[in-house]
Amino acid sequence: KAKGKGKNGFQYFDSIMRSEVEFANTIKRDLGLALEKNQFFLCYQPLVDVRTGKVASMEALLRWQHPKKGIISPFHFIPIAEETRQIISIGEWVLRTACRQKKEWLNMGYSGFSVSVNVSVHQLQQPDFAKVVCEILNEIELDPRHLELEITETVLIKAMDTVVRNLYHLKEIGVKIIIDDFGTENSSFRYMQKFNFDGLKIDKSFVSEIKVDVNKAIVDAIILLGHRMELGVTAEGVETKEQLDCLVKCGCDKVQGYYFSKPLPPDEAIRMVQKSV
Ligand code: C2E
Ligand code: MG
Ligand code: MG
Ligand code: MG
Repeated sequence: KAKGKGKNGFQYFDSIMRSEVEFANTIKRDLGLALEKNQFFLCYQPLVDVRTGKVASMEALLRWQHPKKGIISPFHFIPIAEETRQIISIGEWVLRTACRQKKEWLNMGYSGFSVSVNVSVHQLQQPDFAKVVCEILNEIELDPRHLELEITETVLIKAMDTVVRNLYHLKEIGVKIIIDDFGTENSSFRYMQKFNFDGLKIDKSFVSEIKVDVNKAIVDAIILLGHRMELGVTAEGVETKEQLDCLVKCGCDKVQGYYFSKPLPPDEAIRMVQKSV
């Protein structure tokens, strides 16, 4: 509001700030019990192969059903979970749940797509992370080739011996490693030289503004770079037919976004697969 200055304006902002602090405190306080109270669940969002039109992968996205605040987005609690290191146990829950879901889909006869899980740098910094992943896969009897891990460039920038060792171990057993939100940080080229990744995911900020020439140029360049390095390239955040057409023209391999489907509970997400066979 234009009249937002003066005393009332100040009180207005003051109360917004107070409610934000209150929200953050509630999250901090309740996050510790969310796992044992079974308040987490996963939604799945398909990645569609541009050439075949089929679902190539399902990305697991974490949600928190808070008893009073409703469904909370990972943007609000992952940073806190990382700060308090609870991300280690939450991340393990995500991996196990997503792998179980994938196994269930396989048992139902749906094959041909992998499951992809977002992994935090804090998880990769655990010396036994790769071992934990192996144990989960063994326990569920899931072939590692069905699993993809999405890591952000932050992981690469912070890459240290432990992270690299974990990545090598996982790669060796057949787990695929994808760089998520590609293009939002800037110093991952060095690590792309050192580690043989399986794919890149172009950040949605470039996709949503793809009509702006500079973004089109960036998308073009990332796809070219990816292909030169023999990596599959996915674009996230595809919302319109126009964006899709543009990405297809640039040679993008896989696409994901609201244009195809929002992240959905497993039984709704699988309908995309049923439709595309
Ligand atoms: P991300 O991995 O880059 O996931 C993409 C985000 O964009 C998701 O938000 C997804 O719901 C949203 N999205 C997908 N399609 C569209 C679209 O067409 N338009 C727009 N505007 N948005 C779209 P979400 O589910 O809120 O997750 C946010 C971030 O939280 C993820 O970004 C990921 O970095 C993190 N995250 C989610 N689940 C986990 C998890 O289990 N573990 C870890 N460590 N991080 C997670
Ligand atoms: Mg992701
Ligand atoms: Mg992403
Ligand atoms: Mg992103």
